[in-house]
Amino acid sequence: MTEPSFTPIPVDLLRLVGADEAVFEPACAVYTNRDLDLAQTKLVGFDMDYTLALYHKAPMEQLQYDLTVDRLVSQAGYPEAIRALPYDPNFVIRGLVVDKQRGHILKMDTHGRVARAFHGHRRLAVDEVREAYAHVRLRLGSESLASADTLFSMPEVCLYANLIEFFERQVEQGTAAEPVSLPADAPHGRLLGRINTWKLFDDVREAIDSIHRDGSLKAVIMADLGRYFVVDDHLPLTLHKLRSAGKRLFLLTNSYWLYTDAVMSFLLDGLLKEYAGWRQYFDAVIVGGKKPGFFTDRKPFLEVAPLRGVEQTLGEVDADRFERGRVYQGGNIADFERMAQAKGEEILYVGDHIFGDIVRSRRDSRWRTCLVVEELEHEIRASIRNTDTIDALDGVDARRHALDDELALQRALLDRLEAAVGDGPAGQLDATARAGVEEAARRLRREVDVAKRHLRALDRQAAEYQDILDKSFNASWGRLFKASNELSRFGAQVELYACTYTSRVSNFRHYSPVQLFRAPRERMSHDPGSDASGRKKAARSRAGAG
Ligand code: IMP
Ligand code: MG
Repeated sequence: MTEPSFTPIPVDLLRLVGADEAVFEPACAVYTNRDLDLAQTKLVGFDMDYTLALYHKAPMEQLQYDLTVDRLVSQAGYPEAIRALPYDPNFVIRGLVVDKQRGHILKMDTHGRVARAFHGHRRLAVDEVREAYAHVRLRLGSESLASADTLFSMPEVCLYANLIEFFERQVEQGTAAEPVSLPADAPHGRLLGRINTWKLFDDVREAIDSIHRDGSLKAVIMADLGRYFVVDDHLPLTLHKLRSAGKRLFLLTNSYWLYTDAVMSFLLDGLLKEYAGWRQYFDAVIVGGKKPGFFTDRKPFLEVAPLRGVEQTLGEVDADRFERGRVYQGGNIADFERMAQAKGEEILYVGDHIFGDIVRSRRDSRWRTCLVVEELEHEIRASIRNTDTIDALDGVDARRHALDDELALQRALLDRLEAAVGDGPAGQLDATARAGVEEAARRLRREVDVAKRHLRALDRQAAEYQDILDKSFNASWGRLFKASNELSRFGAQVELYACTYTSRVSNFRHYSPVQLFRAPRERMSHDPGSDASGRKKAARSRAGAG
């Protein structure tokens, strides 16, 4: 039976009838880890920062960096000279982990192993990584580690690397590294470097936290919203399309009213005539949500005065439903579900914070999730550009693995041959048989040597391809979702916790509001057709034939 097929409609024609949203490149798709049936979704919720509201990377990160440096100098006793250290927007990728004890920055893989590490801006050699971490079990909840889970964290990790280098240079030159010099009696084992790398990170964290909390960062942003936010022309229609299909929408952000109102109004006001203002898009607006606590605690909802430029709460809410037009602050998931009259799998939440938005909402409730990963566009385009290198690497990998398996078999065979002509009990052969076995062993030994050399050449070739690939994704850290042949820790978290993921909210406009997003079929190593099973089968059949 032949499968039915559809003739593609030319793009110009689609444009002519206003259906060009049906044409999109892979970088703008929604990807699925667990089936998600939008037809069953009653409520779609959105985080604001880095989800509905995308920041321009360079100015936003530079601003955070500069204000943090300023705070360290003016309030934490750091030297004026650190103002000259430049911010490198390409140095950090999401998902990196800071080891405060050693002062290293780590990229970890899905198994919790350190795939690569930097000290300052110097990449550690394979041996250094092995020496530091081969026998250490890194527990991500431990206070000595801090992970960079959102794009807000990029500047702090780069600043940390800059300061590590700056202060270690001072120590080398014999200058005291105040305020992070190590006292002579520093507790052994907690700190391993030449400066107090732990305090250094905590100081940076505290400074960045304070510029967020005391409003100084937001004051600069609000004075020039156009400089800091990407205006996504497709966002209003995307939200409208969901609403027109009968979905209720809500906003749940950790930002407070004054900032939320300024940003959302900049992004949505006056764009569609059906909506007098940004709040009309949403059936419930919740600011100051304190995620992840929203999903675990029982804080009450407060009502907020919805006045432009005013930050004022009006008291606790005691109501059975959210009311359109009102604005709420704080709250918790149990009251939310009661007042929204929807629960668990009927709710889809879209956010950018793998832990605060996605892990908690899945672990502590049954909400369905979509993670916004802006970097996906760059990753996918880089993959497409490098298809030839990726194919070449896959090819070399397949040959390496097959040869490795074959070598293991042939070495075991060589052991048996050598044992048969050795001194042990197996060595009881008559002269003719012995000569035959010896000849076969000699030949096999030569062939094994040749194969070992070939394997080393393939290893080098694979490393070269890997290097070319890594550099075209991120010169320092390689691919976001991968660590060599494994998933990176970040990639594994996305796969485990995000039902779906995409580079921006407006990508949903390419899909029907009743779309069934289907996950690819899971495969285990032993399933027919999986890489490992195919390889072993090939190795077995060769061994049998030989
Ligand atoms: P979202 O809309 O839930 O993503 O909220 C992000 C909010 O968290 C923004 O108001 C940020 O300013 C704030 N934020 C991000 N990083 C920090 C931090 O390190 N300390 C305090 N607030 C932060
Ligand atoms: Mg966010």
